[in-house]
Amino acid sequence: MNFKELSVEELLNWVKEKGLEKYRAEQLLYWLYKKPAKTFSEMSNLPAALRKELEENFSLFSLKEVETIKSADQTEKKLFITEDGEFVESVIIPDKDRLTLCISTQIGCRMGCRFCLTGYQGFKRNLRTCEILDQILLVKLQGYPITNIVIMGMGEPLDNFENTTKALKLMFDERALGLSYRKVTLSTIGIIPELEELLKTFPKLALSLSLNAPDGEKRAEIMPMEKRYPIKEILAILRKYQKNRRKMFTMEYVLLKGFNDSEDDARKLTGLLKGLRCKINLIPFNPWPGSPFERPEEERVLRFQEILIEKGYSTFIRKSKGKDILAACGQLRWKKQLNPEGSAN
Ligand code: SAH
Ligand code: SF4
Repeated sequence: MNFKELSVEELLNWVKEKGLEKYRAEQLLYWLYKKPAKTFSEMSNLPAALRKELEENFSLFSLKEVETIKSADQTEKKLFITEDGEFVESVIIPDKDRLTLCISTQIGCRMGCRFCLTGYQGFKRNLRTCEILDQILLVKLQGYPITNIVIMGMGEPLDNFENTTKALKLMFDERALGLSYRKVTLSTIGIIPELEELLKTFPKLALSLSLNAPDGEKRAEIMPMEKRYPIKEILAILRKYQKNRRKMFTMEYVLLKGFNDSEDDARKLTGLLKGLRCKINLIPFNPWPGSPFERPEEERVLRFQEILIEKGYSTFIRKSKGKDILAACGQLRWKKQLNPEGSAN
């Protein structure tokens, strides 16, 4: 068992059932989340006998770091290995006064978006709650002053709903990680039932929607899930929930050369978004070997942005960080596990 699989309530119960005093639970939570300990023996205010028992029966970390690669632009990629030998990626992205950690929720992804290497690789399994949290905790343990978390690494978080929401609760719970809602962003393609559930459970959570096309028809060409969960219905849900929120939703739009990057596409996009208060992040496509798309020229990207700004949308171009270390989602795992010959470079 791993304690990070337990909600705070479950952990309190576990301590009670063991016949321990309640403050032992607080101490455990402190060592698990506030000041993560490397080993149970480091949990210095727990009785020695308890520490020994924990050491013998429980595992503390579900992931082990195997590699850190630093890019010329200071982006850092962490490659972790699970107990069953799978690779998990996280990325640390410095930007002005922020240090953002990008974490994964699945090994691979079954949504099959055509521009995405993680999708291209297929699906292996969901990450456990402790594996989602350990990406944060192992980085915290190393002293990185992380200010923001983005759930934008490998996988579709709403396709691993149970473990992702359990991890989110532990991120926000004051007694565990105690992060602020403003500092955690979840990115999704919009699996409708789970999306509604998420918005009800975490009304203050920052949410990014992967839009990627100006209408449903085009979206279906690159995102198979569009057929099951049409973008129009997803946006209707966001319009419904925006009333309860202060923070705007973010729309993510991967720009694919000659496919969705024309002036006409930009204008159509503003039509699709009518009535939704949101900001837009443009992500020029990050190519991978064998990818069916190309990155548009900068001029075209700027023109696309200009049109959206003219229509009143705050629009940002997301710089592609860590290009020299394959920092885009799924790329390092692909190089390491699925293509060990290393022809990625
Ligand atoms: N599954 C979730 C979160 C992970 S993907 C989602 O799709 O939202 C995070 C973001 O990376 C998404 O907006 C996705 O569209 C984008 N993305 C995936 N592959 C990309 C690539 N090769 N270049 C640029 N952006 C990419
Ligand atoms: Fe999965 Fe997101 Fe990649 Fe689509 S873009 S395949 S949902 S990780």
